[in-house]
Amino acid sequence: MKLHDSLTRQTRPFEPLRAGRVAVYGCGPTVYDFAHIGNFRTFAVYDLLHRHLRWRGHEVDFLVNFTDVDDKTITGAAGAGLPLGEHTETFVKAFLDDAGTLGFLPFSSHPRATAHIPAMVAFVERLVEQGSAYLAPDGSVYYAVASFDDYGRLSGKGGEEDAARARIDAEDFDKRDPRDFALWKPAQPVDREVGAVWDSPWGPGRPGWHLECSVMATSLLGDTIDIHMGGEDLLFPHHENEIAQSEAATGQPFARFWVHVKHLKVDARKMSKSLGNFHTVRELLNEGYDPAAIRWTLLSAHYRSELNFTRDGLDDATASVQRLLDFRRRVRDASTATGGGGGLAALAGEHLGAFGRALDDDLNVPRALAALWTLVREVNTELDDAGGKMAGEDRDAVLDALAGMDAVLGVLDLAEASRTVAGADEERVRALVDAREQARADRDFATADRIRDELAAEGIRLEDTPQGTRWTRVRTGP
Ligand code: AMP
Ligand code: ZN
Repeated sequence: MKLHDSLTRQTRPFEPLRAGRVAVYGCGPTVYDFAHIGNFRTFAVYDLLHRHLRWRGHEVDFLVNFTDVDDKTITGAAGAGLPLGEHTETFVKAFLDDAGTLGFLPFSSHPRATAHIPAMVAFVERLVEQGSAYLAPDGSVYYAVASFDDYGRLSGKGGEEDAARARIDAEDFDKRDPRDFALWKPAQPVDREVGAVWDSPWGPGRPGWHLECSVMATSLLGDTIDIHMGGEDLLFPHHENEIAQSEAATGQPFARFWVHVKHLKVDARKMSKSLGNFHTVRELLNEGYDPAAIRWTLLSAHYRSELNFTRDGLDDATASVQRLLDFRRRVRDASTATGGGGGLAALAGEHLGAFGRALDDDLNVPRALAALWTLVREVNTELDDAGGKMAGEDRDAVLDALAGMDAVLGVLDLAEASRTVAGADEERVRALVDAREQARADRDFATADRIRDELAAEGIRLEDTPQGTRWTRVRTGP
């Protein structure tokens, strides 16, 4: 497999450092609010890589942290009048719910910054001892950027020009160099108010955000990790600072591959609350959109390409998911032809191979989807020609290929699950469908149409087939 590494700016062959076991760290949500669909573009790419590595037979340690102490979480907790942990817990749960909604495989773990403070203190002590960090008169411990020769290698930023700009922001601080950043911050009244204060050799305080990720990554995955991921905005200063701290502390290369996901735009603009184009997963569900269509939308573009989120795009994704579900149903329901099999089975194997190779090539989803649609088209043509029949071995091979592709795409089963109506609801829908069939048999088309419209308004789609009326839920919301 090849991956694009932002540090070397090359697409290079990827092999894990330890054979068969891949160590990945993805910067996770800051749990001060609901994550938006932009965040979920980045997280969906984490899930895509996670699934693809597993599909290729690797064991994967995939950590996605919760940033549960920083300026925003503290301000949020104070605003809500809650202790920090209570405030952030709401958004931790919301993230896990949304990740489940979008069909993410569970990540290996979600370390919380607040659960690793002693390791952070020890890490800063080490940096101070070796002269990479210093205690300033304001009570903060700063990382001394000038002590790290490679500073700026990842982002190309942090040189003299940026230093001049930073100087203006730095006036309130006791930094020796305006590029220096806080590893440890002394406790402020608001920190005490929400309980965001821990002891340290430099007095009570709390860790800086950049430090949190370096410490969780190295202490849980080792000094050198295979892949570090995040959205493109994290390149500078967050990841630049992570490299500086980690490599100074351990003396080892920190991450072998840096993978950055391009930002999602909404209606061709940056997502923001003031523009009114700020969407969360739960809002889209409430509007009736299908989780599988949201997932499809977030994954359909290459992760380093522009992706513009629009409702038209979401409607197209809904149609794509439906087309794929219909295709799988058609293959499952195809009657068995006797003899003459093998042709479609070979085709299925070929397109599954192309699908996998596309993802091996820096997660090229558009090319993988092209292989998927070619399979759909070719099998449909064969089925049309053969009067809807196919040999048993062909059917098994096509269904296996689809399942293989969906092990990474993760939309088909997700779509089917959200279309399943359980219990009493199912009986009610079944009764309405039966009543409509009866009305049609009685040539009472007005009644039949009324029932169809009623169900459509609930998001239930009817399909009349020679075997009777089938129905599926296409929208999950109210
Ligand atoms: P945050 O909760 O702000 O720490 O962000 C969580 C993750 O979402 C980070 O990896 C960000 O880079 C990423 N992110 C933020 N905004 C967007 C966006 N519009 N598109 C894609 N990723 C984003
Ligand atoms: Zn991070």
